[in-house]
Amino acid sequence: MPSPQLAIVGGGQLARMMQQAAIGLGVRIRLLAEAPDVSAAQVVPDHVVGDYTDLETLRTVVADAPVVTFDHEHVPPEHLQALQAEGHACRPGPHALLYAQDKAEMRTRLEALGAPCPRNATVSSADDLVAFGFPAVLKTTRGGYDGKGVWVVRSAADAQEAFASGRPLLAEELVDFRRELAALVARSPSGEVLAYPVVESRQADGVCAEVIAPAPDLDPELAAEARALAERIATELDVTGILAVELFETADGRLLVNELAMRPHNTGHWSIDGAVTSQFENHLRAVLDLPLGATDPRAPWSVMVNILGGAVEDLEAQRAVVLGAEPDVKIHLYGKSVKAGRKVGHVTAYGPDLDDVLARARRSAALLTDGVTHD
Ligand code: ADP
Repeated sequence: MPSPQLAIVGGGQLARMMQQAAIGLGVRIRLLAEAPDVSAAQVVPDHVVGDYTDLETLRTVVADAPVVTFDHEHVPPEHLQALQAEGHACRPGPHALLYAQDKAEMRTRLEALGAPCPRNATVSSADDLVAFGFPAVLKTTRGGYDGKGVWVVRSAADAQEAFASGRPLLAEELVDFRRELAALVARSPSGEVLAYPVVESRQADGVCAEVIAPAPDLDPELAAEARALAERIATELDVTGILAVELFETADGRLLVNELAMRPHNTGHWSIDGAVTSQFENHLRAVLDLPLGATDPRAPWSVMVNILGGAVEDLEAQRAVVLGAEPDVKIHLYGKSVKAGRKVGHVTAYGPDLDDVLARARRSAALLTDGVTHD
């Protein structure tokens, strides 16, 4: 096989959707997959199965690839430094990824930049937490995802489970937020930065359930502030590829940064069908230092609804049913087996009327997940 232009570490749905964009761009990818049947390994023929925490495995994967990017943020930074020393460009680099890997480091750096954050402190004991005050949100500084490793605590007794994890913890004020927003930007090594429209993300049980692009009724000044903030964070932290800045819009109309992700993000999946250039295509363009594509929406409204494992076992068969009912809704399945609550796909609808777009996206998701439309 000819040499790849890009190595991707991690074989989840993000790498799978990068491959979809890579085909359009004519970019050859080699993948490091966790197992032979993971989501992206099904669609990237040039893949190696192995462990991303093993430096020799990483060396094999990137051997003849000039650039490396990621499906997740968990590759040990010392391995990335080694790959860089051996002449491979890691994008984003380990110096930037640190702030997506460690929430305490992220808070310290963002506060130094003057980015608005919830009040926070690292805590290592119940006494520290009492001194911080209640109610608080406790978070493991590393390794949390989809709300795992996040606890809302109103007393020292509530914090027992969190402290029992034995891991360093970050305490944050419990933010009284109106809603959650996300600002995505793509940034290339030569410094080009482009922001997507700011979106609203709605969570259920700590997992992103649906995303509306752009965020409805968002004050244009706050939207401009969110975009500028994301652009500044990407530039100051020297992020390459997609940066997602998860934000709270507080009840009194301010923005606070929740966390950072340095890879295509669930809140940007709408852009595959709803924007001129998808976040996956712009991620690839950015890490390969190609000119970025326009981030403008194709329609006034796009709504993305996640497909979580439900009653329907055979999603591929159910796809035909949903296409019959909603021919204009775009269905993305990740090639994963169905387990309750597991992210197995998403649907996107777009058009001129938000109520209609929301209804079509939700109806399609329900029909795909449970075989019924709930209306
Ligand atoms: P994860 O890394 O698991 O995504 P997050 O830090 O994003 O963890 O937290 C998960 C969810 O918990 C957020 O989407 C938000 O709904 C809620 N949350 C997190 N931090 C706070 C906070 N300081 N105040 C209020 N709610 C919060």
